[in-house]
Amino acid sequence: MENIKTTAIVLAAGQGKRMQSSIHKQYLELQGKPVLYYALNAFEQSFVNAVVLVVGKGEEAFCRQEILEKYGITKVKTIVEGGKERYHSVANGLRAITWQCDYVFIHDGARPLICNAILHRALTSVQAAKACVVGMPVKDTIKIADENGCVASTPARSLVWQIQTPQVFDKILITKAYETLLEQENQLLAQGVQITDDAMVAEYFADISVKLVEGSYQNIKITTPEDLKIAQIFLESQNSE
Ligand code: C5P
Repeated sequence: MENIKTTAIVLAAGQGKRMQSSIHKQYLELQGKPVLYYALNAFEQSFVNAVVLVVGKGEEAFCRQEILEKYGITKVKTIVEGGKERYHSVANGLRAITWQCDYVFIHDGARPLICNAILHRALTSVQAAKACVVGMPVKDTIKIADENGCVASTPARSLVWQIQTPQVFDKILITKAYETLLEQENQLLAQGVQITDDAMVAEYFADISVKLVEGSYQNIKITTPEDLKIAQIFLESQNSE
């Protein structure tokens, strides 16, 4: 473990349009602190050696003062500007890693309930598989819809997982995969492919199986207003444990 070097890329450059708030969701308050603080603090308290924080244009000074300095977060080595899509933000984060790094933990800053147990499970898995993503088996039946809003098919529920972050990769493997993605972006867009997570980049551009690792049903992403209330309840229950 001492010789393994890990970096987390924490993504906070999204617009959060589904939150219906003028404040970006990663800066909304959860128990008196910004949502983004919680993920940064989880990495601060973990084995992860360094953090790259990816923020929206013009938000760097705010994050530095109102989160890093205010709450004593010291592992953030650099803050970089995000891009139009999530994958552009990840690519910018990967390019900013100029130090020794074996494995990269790519995490949504909008997931405040990440915990040490998940980070450890992911580390064990990535060491064996080079690529893994945290997720949970779905509780509901999932339907694939057609263009007319009708059911096209029903995948076997036991094989369907909802995917969370962190998504964790061998640094060289995922960096190469992201560079190939950016070279082939226009062709993918023309085919209607939407890249919504990092595992997809590995699936398309790295010859590797991505392992699924157990996350937690509490590791939710703050997306819509009710998610903040749910996260509040989970945080309260963690504090009283
Ligand atoms: O949009 P979505 O909820 O999937 O975003 C997941 C995470 O990625 C959020 O933490 C968001 O801030 C981040 N993101 C980003 N750059 C973008 C879009 C999303 O850093 N262009």
